[in-house]
Amino acid sequence: MPDRVVETRSRKLRILQAELEDKLGQGIDGAAPAAPERLPPKPDWIRMKMPAGEKFFDLKKRVAELGLHTVCESASCPNIGECWNRQSLTIMILGGICTRSCQFCDVPTGRPLPPDPAEPEHVAMMLGELGLRHTVVTCVDRDDLPDGGAAHWAATIRAIKRRSPELVLEVLTGDFKGDTGAVDTVLAAGPDVFAHNLETVPRLSKQVRVQASYARSYAVLHHAKTRGAITKTGLMLGLGETPDEIRQVMRELREIGVDILTLGQYLRPSPRHLAVARFAPPEEFAALKADALAMGFPHVESGPMVRSSYHADGQRDIVLALRNR
Ligand code: SF4
Repeated sequence: MPDRVVETRSRKLRILQAELEDKLGQGIDGAAPAAPERLPPKPDWIRMKMPAGEKFFDLKKRVAELGLHTVCESASCPNIGECWNRQSLTIMILGGICTRSCQFCDVPTGRPLPPDPAEPEHVAMMLGELGLRHTVVTCVDRDDLPDGGAAHWAATIRAIKRRSPELVLEVLTGDFKGDTGAVDTVLAAGPDVFAHNLETVPRLSKQVRVQASYARSYAVLHHAKTRGAITKTGLMLGLGETPDEIRQVMRELREIGVDILTLGQYLRPSPRHLAVARFAPPEEFAALKADALAMGFPHVESGPMVRSSYHADGQRDIVLALRNR
């Protein structure tokens, strides 16, 4: 590789590393922490891979060319280096600006542009090019739109399915302000998994997800289940909840038949976001996973670095099995 290319690559790497460290306030794989005085040091089990490699940069370039957004970038996901080198990304539709201001999330809040009518085809093109077998698509919340973006969701799902009929597609949506008609519009387009994250326990919900509520999110999941969807939700640990509160939520989720559960550690994206109350150790994640499986969840992903879309491609077989059940 010519020297200039190598030099440009290493400069890009340094910039990316600095950006990530600045947002997360912690070091990445051996690098010195950028601002240890701002955030408590991370425990050993919180590991991030430096974003690098041909696949990472090729994917980043193609996402930009198509004018797409990913939650991997917008939410400063610490797994981006690992996921993108596996060609695993989570596209975020309906723009890059969210109408809500959840206190854990790094996606910018503001007044979004109207949905891009070319976006459904661009998403389908991107996923078709990657030849993925399973993927997650998510969105920003669009409380400014009368249907919360449901019609755009449906157009996107149909475009993806037209181009990649074998792809197992998981949609991670907002709560549509509890509008079950909007949920039905999304489901009618035929996603393979309907996911909506509760994020935290009822006691902390208002503080963590300012414009949302536990009851409304629970009702959305319940509604999707009554429509026969394979359902999935995720919770973060480390926001101030207790393990027993998590277990109570797990019981309530099983009461309505939610199929897939993810549990991961909350990491503060910047000093402007909610502080991490504690870092749950890996053994606690393992114990919660064992309890969740004993309660009857068909599938559980639980670990400090787990996100709702982390290694979702590994859930393809379980989704197909649930579909044939
Ligand atoms: S865990 Fe999800 S959001 Fe994070 S980089 Fe991987 S695919 Fe993207």
